[in-house]
Amino acid sequence: MTTHKLLLLPGDGIGVETMEEVKAIVSFMNEEGLASFETEEGLVGGSAYDAHGKAISEEHMKLATESDAVLFGAVGGPKWDGVPYEVRPEAGLLRLRKDLALFANLRPAICYPALAAASSLKHEVVEGLDILIVRELTGGVYFGEPKEITDLGNGQKRGVDTQVYETYEIERIGRVAFELARTRGNKVTSMEKRNVMKSGVLWNEVMTRVGREEYSDVKLDHMLADSGGMQLVRWPKQFDVIVTDNLFGDLLSDIAAMLTGSLGMLPSASLGAPDERSGKRKAMYEPVHGSAPDIAGQGIANPIAMIASLAMCLRYSFGMVELADRLEKAISDTLNDGLRTKDIMSEGAREVGTREMGAAILAKF
Ligand code: ATP
Ligand code: MG
Repeated sequence: MTTHKLLLLPGDGIGVETMEEVKAIVSFMNEEGLASFETEEGLVGGSAYDAHGKAISEEHMKLATESDAVLFGAVGGPKWDGVPYEVRPEAGLLRLRKDLALFANLRPAICYPALAAASSLKHEVVEGLDILIVRELTGGVYFGEPKEITDLGNGQKRGVDTQVYETYEIERIGRVAFELARTRGNKVTSMEKRNVMKSGVLWNEVMTRVGREEYSDVKLDHMLADSGGMQLVRWPKQFDVIVTDNLFGDLLSDIAAMLTGSLGMLPSASLGAPDERSGKRKAMYEPVHGSAPDIAGQGIANPIAMIASLAMCLRYSFGMVELADRLEKAISDTLNDGLRTKDIMSEGAREVGTREMGAAILAKF
């Protein structure tokens, strides 16, 4: 059995509490011989700043680049509001994303059957929902140059951001989306605004070509991002994989998040390019939620987003599809049993804390 190197970076706040539940599952897999993981643990964010004045140490950056995958908790909190900008907790996360060149952000929106009934949306709209948003993460308007505010001298200023996409960036994010679609519903919907943006015209052109030349078995649709957002709320089950740029992906994945209930349920993955020799991708897995300072330290955080991030890691970094399915089913079964953390609590269910939820999922695994 191949031994995989996992770097655990719990971070701050509920990142620490929820990572404990992930550690228990990883140990279980090792003990039962289901997999072989060599884990290292490190500091990131505010806790790293407290320990050595940086948001992540060079030693841990090195470990991250050498690991097969990184599991990241969450960073930040009011305690570090005053620290210098370059070493603020979020700088650790941004450094990891940048140095590992994680250009593809995967955010599933899954509505577990047990939670569909409690959704604020119509039951038939969300029940059985299982879609995946693939967001380009290292290009577009977030990074394009020029990016500046210039003084026009007449009491007026001009703020400029530039959206830039090159062919290779669209090709590689496209390939990630098509590959993933093949493992799911075999359908990709590409979203841009080609009606008003040149980068959108190119996006559409490149996606169409990659789809035709390399993935003719996968169904490809195009939608303008604004109408895509509308469709996402109206009838989300029409989608399988959505692929879109950095800015639209930011908006659309937050909209999709609301379809599923709590932030505490949502995992994410960020993938880099495959290594030329080994074919392995750099990858980091983390919950969508932050460090939740308002509930940190109380033992009430929902560990499901963190545990589901581990499931994504098993699936996408190590091809352990069966174990990933089992873990996701354990989450679903535990919810079916009526266990709920406070954030997803509903009438007639049993409220439990982080530990109890984690232990119940492990017992079903
Ligand atoms: P960040 O800037 O790091 O994204 P944020 O303040 O935007 O942080 P969160 O830290 O995710 O967002 O918290 C938003 C709200 O959701 C808080 O009220 C928090 O308690 C709640 N929340 C987030 N994650 C969880 C969780 N796993 N379990 C329970 N509640 C959660
Ligand atoms: Mg936030």
